[in-house]
Amino acid sequence: MFQCKHCSYEYTYKEALGMASSTGVGKRCPNCGETNYYTARSRRKGMFITMLSVLFVSALNFFEVPMSISIGILFILLIGYYLLFPFLFELTDQEEPLW
Ligand SMILES: [Zn+2]
Repeated sequence: MFQCKHCSYEYTYKEALGMASSTGVGKRCPNCGETNYYTARSRRKGMFITMLSVLFVSALNFFEVPMSISIGILFILLIGYYLLFPFLFELTDQEEPLW
């Protein structure tokens, strides 16, 4: 689960999900107001999962699985990814270069 790097505040699952759905680089801590960033490692993980989902759905297409089923599966994957987001990502107090 997310933890603020400035004040060690533990985000609730709901707060973490709210952060997952908001855009922008820095995430403001609800407790101390300082900005946190996703670690480069967790952002790479996120990109990897996105790429895997796209590859998986392309593979379904290749095996002539109907488009409506592929889209349904992609939708389920996206929801799963969103719900797991607070467990997959970690926070840091400074912006890290991606590579
Ligand atoms: Zn904080």
